Amino acid sequence: MTYDFDLFVIGAGSGGVRAARFAAGFGAKVAVAESRYLGGTCVNVGCVPKKLLVYGAHFAEDFEQAQGFGWTASKPQFDWETLIANKNREIERLNGLYRKLLISSGVSLFEGHARLTDAHHVAINGQCFSAERILIATGGWPQIPDIPGREHAITSNEAFFLKQLPKRVLVVGGGYIAVEFAGIFNGLGADTRLLYRGEMFLRGFDQSVRTHLAEELTKRGLHLDFNTDIELIVKQPDGSLLATLKDGRQLETDSIFYATGRRPMLDNLGLENTLVELNEAGYISVNEGFETREPSILALGDVIGGVQLTPVATAEGMAVARRLFKPEQYRPVDYRHIPTAVFSQPSIGTVGLTEEQAVAEGHKVVVYESRFRPMKLTLTESSEKTLMKLVVDAESDRVLGAHMVGPDAGDIIQGLAIALKAGATKRLFDETIGVHPTSAEEFVTLRTPVRR
Ligand code: FAD
Ligand code: NDP
Repeated sequence: MTYDFDLFVIGAGSGGVRAARFAAGFGAKVAVAESRYLGGTCVNVGCVPKKLLVYGAHFAEDFEQAQGFGWTASKPQFDWETLIANKNREIERLNGLYRKLLISSGVSLFEGHARLTDAHHVAINGQCFSAERILIATGGWPQIPDIPGREHAITSNEAFFLKQLPKRVLVVGGGYIAVEFAGIFNGLGADTRLLYRGEMFLRGFDQSVRTHLAEELTKRGLHLDFNTDIELIVKQPDGSLLATLKDGRQLETDSIFYATGRRPMLDNLGLENTLVELNEAGYISVNEGFETREPSILALGDVIGGVQLTPVATAEGMAVARRLFKPEQYRPVDYRHIPTAVFSQPSIGTVGLTEEQAVAEGHKVVVYESRFRPMKLTLTESSEKTLMKLVVDAESDRVLGAHMVGPDAGDIIQGLAIALKAGATKRLFDETIGVHPTSAEEFVTLRTPVRR
């Protein structure tokens, strides 16, 4: 049987674009459907605009710290509208770049909502196309718990397009997005309070990292409110919002930002016309080859609910393209040692096992930890401390995990991820000559264990 396409990709986000471009490059006839924005979540309402806002928020402390280096300037003024307009212009440029990339790779681009009509057919814009294989790369969507008044709350999707910066913000959640946006709002001057339902935010991160970041955020005037949650939101006549908490307290605010996780984007996708199955958490269930229960349909990225990071989605996209159309180059995705950063202020960089995970896995661990004032701050009033930590296996001397809280943590941890992936021992770290004077050199000069 002949098909219109060898591969029909639904979703032009991180994973879908990578799979489509590589498949087309390997000679396959490929189509991509995109209903919303080219580049997906990361480019439009995720990594990229978020990092631009984080840069924007950083200037507040840069202006302050500059005084220690002899600079004086009139009181800096911040204009949210300018930041958002400039951010939007940059995202439009990237959308255009993605369009060019897809088209110049020979991919047929369809802009509209795609729906599966059976195992080999996709309906879009009133047309129906057949494909030997279909790849679902539809990503995720923010979800707000079902509480009365939730319609008054916003998520990251809306925050990127707010007309003005709220004066007071309540951020709900304790994951990546909550911590990053609380830092953005706080840095830009909003009176910001982060509410988290548990004992300590950033569940799953190393305990030293979590407590260190909590201390640093508090120093910066961010209010951290743990063991609490919102029960009810009421809009008041003057437009402000009144949040009633589970512990009975009431907080008045101008904006309530929810970052309580994301659900897979399966809306009107037509999965009921196929054998595709969902797992218990509601994500599309796939095997190691990203195949669903329907042999012709594959899925990857956030919609399968694995590690929800852009470089993971692109690695999965590459693996799918290779396995289908260039099997001699196929290598399965290696999910060990995925480095990650939280772009809080200060930021977190982490790779490998946390101390708690290493102990739970039965390792006898030696822990090295250092807290120090970064050199750049020595001429300033700032009391911010950087944390660096190595978790080492006592028997093999292998470094199991590296964790950092401090400026440029994500950039620093990228190189360490290669070392950990290569199986580096603590001795190898010690024998590596540092780059002086940097913060990063601390990772090769940690000599005295703090715990065994
Ligand atoms: P997506 O990028 O979400 O792409 C899916 C695409 O499918 C979308 O464009 C959507 O419009 C389209 N689509 C959905 N349904 C249909 C349909 N039926 N028909 C046609 N098109 C459809 N990751 C990092 O690594 N670093 C970061 O700093 C980072 N920051 C983030 C910040 C925020 C606020 C958020 C929300 C996420 C962030 N992430 C970050 C996560 C990252 O954005 C995702 O892991 C990544 O985008 C997932 O890629 P994907 O291809 O699976 O899906
Ligand atoms: P996360 O899963 O990281 O965090 C969700 C948070 O919301 C957790 O603290 C969770 O608490 C809390 N929560 C969940 N449900 C409820 C509820 N019903 N009521 C109150 N609190 C609740 O999700 P995010 O939305 O922050 O981010 C989604 C994903 O996007 C991340 O996991 C990450 O993979 C990716 N991302 C990556 C970034 C990066 O690389 N820098 C930046 C932003 C996003 P609990 O821990 O108790 O379950």
